[in-house]
Amino acid sequence: MQSSILSTYNRSKLSFVKGRGSYLITKNGKKYLDFASGIAVNSLGHCNPELIKALNKQSKKMWHISNAFQISEQEELAKKLTKLTFADKVFFCNSGAESVEAAIKIARAYFQIKKKKNKFKIITIKGSFHGRTLAAISASGQKKLIDGFEPVLKGFTNVEFGDHKAIEKSIDNQTAAIMLEPILGEGGIKVIPSQCLEGLRKLCNKKNILLIFDEVQCGIGRSGKFFSYQWSKIKPDILTTAKGIGGGFPIGACLVSNKVSKGMGFGSHGSTFGGNPLACSVANKVIEIISNKKFLKDLNKKSVFFINELEKIKNLYGNLIEEIRGQGFLLGIKSKINNLIFIEKLRKNGLLIIGASENVIRILPPLNVSIKELKIAINIIKKTCLDINGKKN
Ligand SMILES: *Cc1c(COP(=O)(O)O)cnc(C)c1O
Repeated sequence: MQSSILSTYNRSKLSFVKGRGSYLITKNGKKYLDFASGIAVNSLGHCNPELIKALNKQSKKMWHISNAFQISEQEELAKKLTKLTFADKVFFCNSGAESVEAAIKIARAYFQIKKKKNKFKIITIKGSFHGRTLAAISASGQKKLIDGFEPVLKGFTNVEFGDHKAIEKSIDNQTAAIMLEPILGEGGIKVIPSQCLEGLRKLCNKKNILLIFDEVQCGIGRSGKFFSYQWSKIKPDILTTAKGIGGGFPIGACLVSNKVSKGMGFGSHGSTFGGNPLACSVANKVIEIISNKKFLKDLNKKSVFFINELEKIKNLYGNLIEEIRGQGFLLGIKSKINNLIFIEKLRKNGLLIIGASENVIRILPPLNVSIKELKIAINIIKKTCLDINGKKN
């Protein structure tokens, strides 16, 4: 049957009727271990009882009110986020791309309104992903995102991953900020080492420009810290978050320091839905659970176990796997065979995962996954490698 949905997604034929914890279940009752987690969104698995409770409770009080009024759930969420981070102020929106839009506007306004300087350029990393709005595709600079939608927005300079010198060289007196993902997600699960982040912070201080971290994918516990920049000694000026923060309920946020927030006055930005009571109630619960020290400690223990097992598989199947990448539960297998074929075979064997650039297979278990489920995943990956090699022989 012809679908009535605009064909922007290359969808798998798989379809599910419900989700429970780390599993998705089809109409026929077949269970799949879901290590795609809606692309790092279902941070606490499907239909988490605590999140259901938070959502139900709020649904009986009030769903939506305009940002023209006080929203206590939003106030509480902002307090939580600022307490856990460098930030003093939070702007709420509904998605990652919108949080990136807010970050770009805040950076420009800081210089153009507050400091009365015409600084607007933002330096970004080649292969990065910041969302699908025009500003976000302009920022990422990727041809495959931009093609057909030109002209792009002015003011973005795209430099090679890992080329600190190129970043320094591309700064001029119109540069406002450097924006990057501390761990590139769509770009192939590439971790930027702490010393590089620290070097960039120094560079930004020296040149009087801002440092923006896009943590839409790597934040909210995904890397093993609440935000992944917290593995390093430094802080950004602006940070974007979305994906995992609502555990499946759409919400995004842009975090900013007091100083840098100063360009944004009344009427400078807004969102109808951003930070509505339903979204904030769920996010408050998500954050309460994930920011807990014990939760993060357990997560890191499970991650070490899982990465170790993946390394063992790599050593067994060196002809299929080049490298295990990532941190926490933002992991990638760099495949030697076509990653989409690998992913299809893993799915056939009951493990749902997704692809990333550079022929990488992205593994994003729910953060509250059990060791038992991780072991099941490891067995599926092993079996799949065996299947692939068996066919070849
Ligand atoms: C997914 C993603 C975005 C865009 O988020 P949407 O909610 O799809 O708009 C932005 N930045 C990064 C790093 C992402 O992974």
